[in-house]
Amino acid sequence: PSNSIISNSISKVRLIVRVRSFLPKEISEKNRKARSCISVLDQEFKSSDEVGVFLKDPDTSRNECYRLDGFFGQEDDNVSKIFYKEVNPLIPGVFSGCNATVFAYGATGSGKTYTMQGTDEHPGLMPLAASTILCMCQSTGSMAEISYYEVYLERCYDLLEVETKEIAILTDKDGQIHLRELSRVPVSSMSEFNEVFYCGIQRRKVAHTGLNDASSRSHGVLVITVSTPFGDGSGAVVIGKLNLIDLAGNEDNRRTCNEGIRLQESAKINKSLFALSNVIYALNNNKPRVPYRESNLTRILQDSLGGTSRALMVICLNPGEYQESVHTVSLASRSR
Ligand code: ADP
Ligand code: MG
Repeated sequence: PSNSIISNSISKVRLIVRVRSFLPKEISEKNRKARSCISVLDQEFKSSDEVGVFLKDPDTSRNECYRLDGFFGQEDDNVSKIFYKEVNPLIPGVFSGCNATVFAYGATGSGKTYTMQGTDEHPGLMPLAASTILCMCQSTGSMAEISYYEVYLERCYDLLEVETKEIAILTDKDGQIHLRELSRVPVSSMSEFNEVFYCGIQRRKVAHTGLNDASSRSHGVLVITVSTPFGDGSGAVVIGKLNLIDLAGNEDNRRTCNEGIRLQESAKINKSLFALSNVIYALNNNKPRVPYRESNLTRILQDSLGGTSRALMVICLNPGEYQESVHTVSLASRSR
């Protein structure tokens, strides 16, 4: 009990599925037709606000079905669809002081970074959100600032410093969490945003030199903080935050045979992803207590999950991986 705080939550966390397309090399692999193991059963669910996500192993015909809040299949340019349908509606609230959080959840290779960060030709949810926010700032006279940090092995690192710097996670006497001396860089145009954002991406890549692809084992958090004047001439502002999070891969240890540092990493990743799903479960099921303090990730996000905040979990799936997709969707759907 002392490990949790009372929730006054009304908002639910939406859980949606995003299936990435097959990669050219997956389609051309010999003897292996790229057959998707994921489909949606929207007929039966049409009247309600949910979809049935159907997973079927093309080799063994084993199958599972899960109820979730939305489905974006691999046929479309689904990142921009997710942005307009699911993320854009969260943005006006940020200008009136309601925080929001968007997560990408899934195994390594399932398309989380593609969804959040994107590429030059296909911007992800991070730059799409920044662009909409910066546009709205012009009409409202608001100011936007960017922070970008990484949570790795339960520790927090600033990605916008010249040298990667560990940030202390402090709790004040009111129970509010602060990231001490985390950089907040003001941006007023997309070219300014891109400059800061790409620096952060580079730092994230080099932060753990020597560790193979460590970025897939850390959580990358981009925060866009918006300060909007009250409009009464007093100079007072209302502050809202949008957190956009590329979560660490939720690899199944039993399948990846991790050892040593990898096992220790996986244990911490699983701990924070498990804590996150427990928090979302508590919010979605109106539990009186929300266990934010079970991991540093959920402690840090405490002011942006629950209460008046809104959140969205984008469950990323590789259409060629049945077992992995079942693992991901079954864990994620537990918190619905
Ligand atoms: P993760 O971050 O979950 O490990 P990535 O985002 O790196 O996964 O995606 C794995 C691979 O799939 C990358 O090569 C990425 O460019 C590619 N990819 C993901 N989604 C798409 C898509 N919709 N279209 C084309 N390529 C994609
Ligand atoms: Mg990634």
